[in-house]
Amino acid sequence: DHEYMMDNWEKNIYTAIKPSLEFKRYWLAALQDGFVTYSEKPAAFPAFIGDSFVSSTRTASSNDYVLLLVKHHSIGDGKYANNGWFQELPHPISKIVWDNYAAISVTTAKELGVKNDDKIKITNGALSMEIPVFIQAGTADKVISIELGGGRKVGGAIGTGNGFDAYALMSNTSSASQFYNNVKVEKGSGSYELVSTQEHHAVDDPVTHDLQYKRDIIREGTYEDYKKKPKFLEKHEEVHGMPLDSFPSINESTKEHPYYTGVKWAMILDMNKCTGCNYCTIACNVENNIPIVGKDQVKVNREMHWIRIDRYYSGTPDAPRVNFQPMLCQHCDNAPCENVCPVAATTHSPDGINGMAYNRCVGTRYCANNCPYKVRRFNYFNWRDRVADGYYQTEPVNYMYNPEVTVRSRGVMEKCTFCIQRIQDAKGVASGEGRRVKGTDVKTACQEACPASAISFGDMNDKKSEFYKQRMHPLGYGVLEDLKVRPNVTYISKLRNILEPLGIEGMGEEKSEGETKKESKTEEKKEEKTH
Ligand code: SF4
Ligand code: SF4
Repeated sequence: DHEYMMDNWEKNIYTAIKPSLEFKRYWLAALQDGFVTYSEKPAAFPAFIGDSFVSSTRTASSNDYVLLLVKHHSIGDGKYANNGWFQELPHPISKIVWDNYAAISVTTAKELGVKNDDKIKITNGALSMEIPVFIQAGTADKVISIELGGGRKVGGAIGTGNGFDAYALMSNTSSASQFYNNVKVEKGSGSYELVSTQEHHAVDDPVTHDLQYKRDIIREGTYEDYKKKPKFLEKHEEVHGMPLDSFPSINESTKEHPYYTGVKWAMILDMNKCTGCNYCTIACNVENNIPIVGKDQVKVNREMHWIRIDRYYSGTPDAPRVNFQPMLCQHCDNAPCENVCPVAATTHSPDGINGMAYNRCVGTRYCANNCPYKVRRFNYFNWRDRVADGYYQTEPVNYMYNPEVTVRSRGVMEKCTFCIQRIQDAKGVASGEGRRVKGTDVKTACQEACPASAISFGDMNDKKSEFYKQRMHPLGYGVLEDLKVRPNVTYISKLRNILEPLGIEGMGEEKSEGETKKESKTEEKKEEKTH
C-alpha cells in the first residue's frame, strides 16, 4: 500500500509540482510535514468520491461501483489462515469473526436492497463472485470493500473454507489491482450468517442512544476544552441514575480495604493511543493459553478472550466517531464477583489482584453474573478436545502452551490475572537480589505487545513513579465509577483535536453565556407548561 501511494505521488503530484528536491527526499519531507502546497490541481490528479480513491476515468454520474480489496486485519493475504487465534480475533471495527465480507455504506445497502448477511453479486469484467454484506458506518457510498485471505481451499485444519475467496475478483496481481472502478454489483442469491461479537457482554441496559456516555463508560472531549480547563472531564460519581446499592458490596464501599503497604498493581489504558488493533488480545491469548472455541460457539457468546476491545460509535452513520476501549478485569477493590462466590474461588491478594483458584471453582457462574464489566469467561467445554480435526494436537499447535500458566478445563471460570505468572517471576528475581519487587519489574503481555504504548502497568503506591503521575492525570477515570467497585484500571479520556464541540451531553463542554441563558429560558417555559 505504501509503495502504491508513493508511486502515485511520484507520477501525479511530484511531476506536477516539479520541486527542486529529488523525489525520495521530497516524499520524506512531505510525510514529515503532513501536507504539500501547490497552486493548481495537477491534470492527472485522481478524483475522490467520499473517502475513497477513485481513478479520474470514473464519471460522477456512473452507476457502477468501486471495488476495494485489502489485506485481512489478522490473516493478511491468507497466509495466516490456519491460525485459530487470528480467525477468532474480532475485526477491529465490525467485530466479525471467522469470515470476510463486503463492507458497504447505509446508502449503498438501500440502493442494492440488501441488509446485513444478504449476499451481493460482484462482477469485475469476466470475473464474478457472491459474498455477504455488512453495513459498515463510515464506508463511502458506491464502494465495496472486501478483505482478502478468506475462502482458502487448502488451508489446513482451521484455515480451510472460512469466508470467501475475493482473489476471484482480481484480474491481475500488481498492487494497483486492489482498486477496481466500474464494477457491477447486484443483489445475490440468499444469505450467509456472519457472527460478530459487537453486542456480546453488553451492559444490561435497554438500547440507549450514546449509552457509553450516559453510563460513563467513555469520556471524551476536545483539545480546545482541555486547554481551557484540564480537569474538564472530571466527574461526580452518582449522576447517572444507577442506584448505588445495586450490589451488596457497594454498601461497604466507603470502607477502604486494608491493603498491604507495599506494591499494589494497577493498569492505565490510554484511549488517545489505542487504535483498536487487537495485538493485546492476541498477546494475551498466547501468554495465557486461551483457547479458540469456533464460530458456532462465538455465536452463542462463548468466546474466551480475557481482553476485548470495545468499539463505540457516535456521530452519524456517514461520519461516525469511533472510540476503542480495551476492556479486561479491572481488579476492583470492592470486587462484586468475589462476595458471591460460594466456595471463595475468586479472592483478593494483598497486592491488589483479583485472583482465581481454578481447582476450587465449581462453575456456578455467579461471579460472571455479578461482574459489571463482563470480563469473566467460562469453559463450557474442554475446548482442546472439542475443536474440529484435532487442531490442538497438530504440530506446531501442540507446542504452544505457556508452561507457567494453568490450562483450564471444562466447568471453570477464568479471566485476566494481570499476568500473575510474570509478577510471581519478578518477585522471585527481586528476592534473589535481596530486594523488594518494584512496579517497573513487571510488564504484562498486552503491554509488551501494544504497538502504540497505550498500556502501562505498575505500582499505584509508588508516588514517585512515572506510573503514579500518569494515573493521577486530570483525564484519568474509572469505567462505571458510579458503581463504586473501585476499579484499578485507569482510562485516559480521549481528546479530539477538532475545533467544533462534540455535542455530548455532560461531557464538560463549556457553554457560552448566551447559550446558557437561552436554555434556562426554555426550561422556564417548560416549567410553565407542566404546571
Ligand atoms: Fe471481579 Fe469483574 Fe471487578 Fe474483575 S472486573 S474484579 S471480574 S467484578
Ligand atoms: Fe489498543 Fe494497544 Fe490493544 Fe492495540 S494493542 S488494541 S493499540 S491497547
